[in-house]
Amino acid sequence: MPTPPPDPDCIFCRIVAGDIPCHKLHKDEHTLAFLDINPTAPGHTLLIPKAHNARLDEMPGETMAKLGAVLPRLAGAVAGAVGAPGYNILQNNGAEAGQAVFHVHFHIIPRGLPGSDFRFDWPAG
Ligand code: 5GP
Repeated sequence: MPTPPPDPDCIFCRIVAGDIPCHKLHKDEHTLAFLDINPTAPGHTLLIPKAHNARLDEMPGETMAKLGAVLPRLAGAVAGAVGAPGYNILQNNGAEAGQAVFHVHFHIIPRGLPGSDFRFDWPAG
């Protein structure tokens, strides 16, 4: 499947291009991870594919494999770096599900530190 072109209106594509600064934690040929600009907990990190896909169900499985190769160790490293005993992985698709930036991303949200209580509504529904 051909790599989708960057979307000039997408804020994460602009971060990938280096047009918008970020606090980078990881980068490789296919993925990038950086601190969330509006963290809900210390160390709140976003892992994204460099290629633009608006949502998970539009993304090739190969891209998921690249993200999957990074996510487990990155999540452990992020939680460890801030001394958090737990973390959530969140991934939103569609405005109705809370997606605000339409470029696939995984949130890594450390939990168990002061100010990072688990406040997500769960079980869902
Ligand atoms: P969503 O609601 O789409 O799952 O999450 C989008 C996330 O992207 C939010 O947590 C928001 O704070 C973060 N974000 C939006 N714009 C920027 C930006 O320019 N830089 C960084 N580092 N994070 C951003």
